[in-house]
Amino acid sequence: MKVSHWLFPVEVLGPNARLALWVQGCRKHCAGCVSPELRAQNGGIDYQVPELAKLLNRILREHRLQGVTISGGEPFEQAEELFALCESLQCADILVYSGYSYRTLCRRYGAKLKKSGIGVLVTGPYRQELNDDLPLRGSANQQIVYLKDELRESYRAYLAEEKRRQQMFVAEDQIFLAGIPPAGRAEVQRAEIEKIIAKEAVS
Ligand code: SF4
Repeated sequence: MKVSHWLFPVEVLGPNARLALWVQGCRKHCAGCVSPELRAQNGGIDYQVPELAKLLNRILREHRLQGVTISGGEPFEQAEELFALCESLQCADILVYSGYSYRTLCRRYGAKLKKSGIGVLVTGPYRQELNDDLPLRGSANQQIVYLKDELRESYRAYLAEEKRRQQMFVAEDQIFLAGIPPAGRAEVQRAEIEKIIAKEAVS
């Protein structure tokens, strides 16, 4: 499975402290995409799913994380690997983002989707003109779908309380942001981060 990176504890992409993982590769072209660097098919690190699951399960256990969020890139471009990973993760709350609509996902994957271990989906392409600064979704057209009914309450409480926020992580000379940027800020933030990195490189 091609993975760009993961971060933890992430508190801005779903309820509770989570492990967030970004897959590499997306063939969609949403205008204003917040992570264009994750669209390339030739980046990231290719993991065997059992190894990856073992690694992530250890992180979940050791850091007592209560949820997993999988974003990208487009997770369903690696659907078989995604299903295998979600089935192997020892976590009851797995949230997956997809640029495809729920209807398309159901048509393509049917019952497999519901049995995959995925708890919640945020589906639909990002549309920058509908970015409403609300938490969890990038734009108002995106749909939150509960595949596990028992997660509904914790997400409802989270959505009622949460404001859109971001977290910054620094690792191996790189700056990573988790969370959905405020409307109109994605490109400005990218330029600011590049400036910080360039400054660090010359000092
Ligand atoms: S689906 Fe996500 S990663 Fe792909 S182009 Fe749209 S916003 Fe970017």
